[in-house]
Order: sequence, then structure tokens, then C-alpha cells
Amino acid sequence: MQQLNDIVDSKILKQYNTQEKRSYLGASSIGDECIRKVQLQYMQKDQKVSAKQIRTFDIGHCLEDLVIKWLRIAGFDLKTRNENGEQFGFSVANGKFAGHVDGLIYNFPEEFPDKPEGPALLEIKTMNHKSWNDTQKRGVLVSKPVYYSQVQLYMAYLELDRCLFVALNKDTSDLYFEIIPFDPGMAQKYSDRAVQIIKATENNELLPCVSGDSSFFLCKMCGFRDHCWKEP
Ligand code: SF4
Repeated sequence: MQQLNDIVDSKILKQYNTQEKRSYLGASSIGDECIRKVQLQYMQKDQKVSAKQIRTFDIGHCLEDLVIKWLRIAGFDLKTRNENGEQFGFSVANGKFAGHVDGLIYNFPEEFPDKPEGPALLEIKTMNHKSWNDTQKRGVLVSKPVYYSQVQLYMAYLELDRCLFVALNKDTSDLYFEIIPFDPGMAQKYSDRAVQIIKATENNELLPCVSGDSSFFLCKMCGFRDHCWKEP
């Protein structure tokens, strides 16, 4: 019933497009390979997105809640919201740069090897099989540098010295765990990048494209294609 697919997709997109855009530079995307893309997001430029991408994003959110449930069953003492019911996070530079975290771990289960003393940052990601396998094989720093920069910034601003990174394989339901220690040099590098983006935007300066070629693989699948490569 293609007609029904089309109806659902168009309503999802309509609802997505009426949502208020994020008015700050988010720590979750600061490590993207293309600095222009991060800047265009900050500038709230229209980004082409498909209904399927929105559904995938929403599924990820729901699955993160499941992972939190499983961690609690396993004996993790963790919180995802503060006493006011708000997500933990940070906001600096007069609210221009901010981020929200999945949770804080106050205590690890007794059985945990080399049980770290809390608190620690909790970051959960959901991945397809190929991506999850690569993360497990090469680790977050090499396989998922954007996630690595994200957690380093969270640790820096929340003054934490370790992060439990959890990746859920959406195809097999397997879990991958990695303890990521705080890396001050990396956190500084991406904090400087945030300042660069905010300053450039305030000076009406557009930061460089990731490539000089519109057929570059990142540009081919980018929602800002029209901003960068549209004929004048
Ligand atoms: S189209 Fe290419 S250069 Fe432009 S924002 Fe996307 S990835 Fe960056």
C-alpha cells in the first residue's frame, strides 16, 4: 500500500518541519567532518531530511530508553533527569553552545571489572550491524570520532573524568560497552571549534566546505547540498 506509506511520510515530514529549530550550537554535532555543515545547522538553515531518517532517529530515542532500563536492572545507579525533570547538560557562551546528556552514573554494579567510582557520563547510541561491528572492532575514538568529541565536551563541561559508552546493535540486540577516559586536549580542540563557528557566524563569514567537489561522498548525502552546490 504505497499510498499509505506516502500519507504517513508526508505527515511525519509536516510535523517535523513545524518543530522549532535548535537555536544553539549543539555539542552532538561539533565533531562533524564538515565544519560548514555544523555552521549551517547553527544558522538554522533548511536541511533536507527524509521521513525515513526521522523514523530512524525516533527509533533510536525509544531504544535508548530500553538500554537505560537494562542498565538499571543490571545494578547501575543512574539518573537521566535532574530534580526539576530536566535533562542534564551544559550551556555556555550565553547559551550559544550547549549539549544534553543521556544520563549520569552514580554507581556501577559491584560485579563490574575494576569498578570505577562514580559519577560518570552515560552516552547511548544505536547502530546498524555494520556500524556496530566497526565500533566494537576499532573503538569509539577511531570508528566514531563525532561521538568521541561529543562525550569529551560533555565530560569537560560537566567536570567528569570518564564516560560509559553503550552501543546497541539494532539488528542483533547485542550491546557494546566502552569506558572512555576524559581527554582534555580533545575537549579543548572541539571547544575551540565551537568558538570558531560562533565567531564566524557573527561576522557573516561562511566556513569552508569539506570538499571542492560536489560529488564528494559526504556532500552527496548531505541535507545542505543545495546551500553549498546549487547553481547561482
Ligand atoms: S554539502 Fe558538503 S560542504 Fe556542504 S555542508 Fe554538506 S558536507 Fe559540507
